[in-house]
Amino acid sequence: MPEPKFFKSDPDKNSVFGYGYADIIGKYDWNNTIRLVEDASDEDVRRVIAKARANRKPLTPEEFAVLISPAATPYIEELAALSRHFTKERFGNIISMYIPMYVSNECTNKCIYCGFNHDNPFHRTTLSLQEVEAECKAIKELGPFENLLIVAGEYPTKCGVDYLEKVLEVCRPYFHNLTIEVQPMRARDYERLTHSGLNGVVCFQETYNKESYKTFHPRGMKSHFDWRLNGFDRMGEAGVHKIGMGALLGLEDWQGDAVMLARHLRYLQKKYWRSRFSVNFPRMRPSESGYKPKSIISDKQLAQLTFAFRIFDHDVDISYSTREDPEFRNHLLSLGVTSMSAGSRTEPGGYVSEPDALEQFEVCDGRSPLEVSKAIEKEGYQTVWKDWDAVFD
Ligand code: SF4
Repeated sequence: MPEPKFFKSDPDKNSVFGYGYADIIGKYDWNNTIRLVEDASDEDVRRVIAKARANRKPLTPEEFAVLISPAATPYIEELAALSRHFTKERFGNIISMYIPMYVSNECTNKCIYCGFNHDNPFHRTTLSLQEVEAECKAIKELGPFENLLIVAGEYPTKCGVDYLEKVLEVCRPYFHNLTIEVQPMRARDYERLTHSGLNGVVCFQETYNKESYKTFHPRGMKSHFDWRLNGFDRMGEAGVHKIGMGALLGLEDWQGDAVMLARHLRYLQKKYWRSRFSVNFPRMRPSESGYKPKSIISDKQLAQLTFAFRIFDHDVDISYSTREDPEFRNHLLSLGVTSMSAGSRTEPGGYVSEPDALEQFEVCDGRSPLEVSKAIEKEGYQTVWKDWDAVFD
């Protein structure tokens, strides 16, 4: 595969495609992965649950596959109880709060399922630094947030490392914990941003099915599966404190992507043991951007996935965004989830004004941050606004 021109002359070994998990994923066949889920029997489920209960050894990704199988669905109450137990044991009764700030909706990619797609004609904008600061102030009026997720489309010449460095510097006096969700970058760029207060990076592989990935991402830098996949290694190499990952569930067979995600997480945890990890399970809905998902994940299936993931990994942060509705989020907050967003606007400048801009996804939980916090406390949980201090950087 040819290197993209943008990185051609870069001598940094981490900027080439062949370094990292892309060398390893090939040993996992997609169809065999799905068969692990489809072929799981009742006996397999009982065996894996017994192992999880004994809690002497972590589950393997293949055992995780059993827990998300249709054969495990009758055991969902048992899975919920185990998930709740391991979450309380590791995290206590807390939900950590964060809020996204969209700084740009410009994008050079052509993801066929996304409204920000380069070919979609609508007004694009990248916030000026003054506008970024105004957004920070507006967010602070919504609630005592300290965890900020800075989000942008992928447009490296407008929203690259120079711009992001300045954005981080503007945001840092307002928030203790800064995370970005932008285009994958070189290891040295991530490292540079950590000196400006970057604490975490979130990236979604979208799907681990390399063949269909190309169909969903036909043009732009994102069309390079290996570059994106190896981005997580570059984050680890750069010493990013917290690495967020996930797949867009529904693009492909969701169980296949979930098992691949579990394998990827295990690989990263072993190799980059100094970093912490979080997962998020965004699911596609039938109406989103007019795009018809390949598989629809129901509330019950998403709950089963969440429980199974917590049983698989007791330490990973499981995050739920405002893509999910209030009732579902209230239900799950004591059963495995550890962080939630609230009060989210998903268009640039959305906190200062009510711009008539396209939202990247529909917000299903429109409650204010304080309403979400009250719902958390009603369940006997504590809302944590700050769990990181800038002096740790
Ligand atoms: S999913 Fe992300 S990269 Fe793809 S078009 Fe939308 S904003 Fe751009």
